[in-house]
Amino acid sequence: MGINIAVDGPAGAGKSTIAKLVAKEKGYIYVDTGAMYRGLAIHFLDQGIEPGDTDRIIDACRSAQVTIQYEEGVQQVYLNGKNITARLRDEEVGNMASKSSPIPQVRKKLLELQQGLAKEQDVIMDGRDIGTCVLPDADVKVYLTASVETRAKRRFDELTEKGVDCDLEEIKRDIAERDHRDMTRETAPLKQAEDAVLIDSSHMTIDEVVAAITALCR
Ligand code: C5P
Repeated sequence: MGINIAVDGPAGAGKSTIAKLVAKEKGYIYVDTGAMYRGLAIHFLDQGIEPGDTDRIIDACRSAQVTIQYEEGVQQVYLNGKNITARLRDEEVGNMASKSSPIPQVRKKLLELQQGLAKEQDVIMDGRDIGTCVLPDADVKVYLTASVETRAKRRFDELTEKGVDCDLEEIKRDIAERDHRDMTRETAPLKQAEDAVLIDSSHMTIDEVVAAITALCR
């Protein structure tokens, strides 16, 4: 059994940036579970399925095989044997992932894969339900959050830097909507595990958050 660190929190809280840095410092493997939901979302989109078509999504789960490999330490997601990592961050993929992830059959499909990865090796895994459902016995649990304003501003800056034209209010609305969907769904909703340490990064630098989590892992 490896060391298991669970990091949960809402969209845009900086989980992946932070978890990657902690993984590097501690020599753990970083497991991005959101990327797995995005991988399945690509399968649904490629079949022309609409986000609201639950029956077709459940049916399509049967023909999807999501697997993970590490290339030079970086997680690669394969869908039915094809590397689809480059498509994971597309807007429509994130939207489909957010709308299909409440479906129990979608979650069940990925649970075993996530638990299997954490069994044999030291991992820091991020997502929405890691401390509450996927790794309830994790050695360290962190609930990483930040205000909607802070998360929206970070996303706005990131997109603007890439030259993408965007609207701060629209980003804020989208983040609030995703929070609501993730927190109010029936299966594995996003919430702080009872034994998780709460870190609000609204007024913290990346280095400060990394140091706080690394200190918990000693
Ligand atoms: O974190 P990321 O934005 O990549 O996740 C995409 C979507 O996958 C989220 O909006 C969330 O609905 C879902 N997700 C989840 N459980 C996880 C990780 C992600 O429901 N453990």
